[in-house]
Amino acid sequence: MTPARRRRLFERLRAADPSPTTELRHASPFELLIAVMLSAQATDRSVNAATARLFPLANTPQALLALGSSGLKRHIRAIGLYNTKAANLLATCRLLIEHHGGEVPCTRAALEALPGVGRKTANLVRAYAFGKPGIICDTHVLRVTGRLGLTTNTDPERVEADLARFLPERDWTAFSTVIMTHGRRCCTARNPNCPGCPVLPLCPEGLRITGGHGAHSGGVDTA
Ligand code: SF4
Repeated sequence: MTPARRRRLFERLRAADPSPTTELRHASPFELLIAVMLSAQATDRSVNAATARLFPLANTPQALLALGSSGLKRHIRAIGLYNTKAANLLATCRLLIEHHGGEVPCTRAALEALPGVGRKTANLVRAYAFGKPGIICDTHVLRVTGRLGLTTNTDPERVEADLARFLPERDWTAFSTVIMTHGRRCCTARNPNCPGCPVLPLCPEGLRITGGHGAHSGGVDTA
């Protein structure tokens, strides 16, 4: 894909999502970290429903630890993998208190040293809690960037590297967030809405699926 086409792709997705941000509700870096850790293989809606009950009671490492395992699980049991997640959250709270004065660290290395925190979570927390540019390679970004022909890789770190090669750092967070939103709303895993997709003329997979016909198509964009 040429730089001009990539620019148009980004502009069209930005127009559909003018204020890209995480949909996980949070009021502090700690709340965001907890919400992201809960969100693995769960919808943002289910996480927001759980944290709406949890955070008014406990939104610091000390308060979460004070709930204890069974107290914490009571609030998150509607979320998948809640047993493992509860154990990781409590272990993370202990480490935050022991090594970071109860605060969430902002380096990737320190974040990734926390139980249950991988590169995607670290990038998301750094981006939205600390304003550090980050490419957040979640399942939607992996799927949609592949369909759009922006990468041929499927490994998250390689996809991240492919996107970083052509995106200026200042666009990393916004670009991955609009792709994520697009993956949730339009380019879904099982049933992508290619005929109604604003980037259909720029998408090899969409053009293959529709044969170039769609509300936003206007023909194949090859420039
Ligand atoms: Fe996804 Fe289809 Fe849009 Fe391509 S045209 S990004 S496959 S919804």
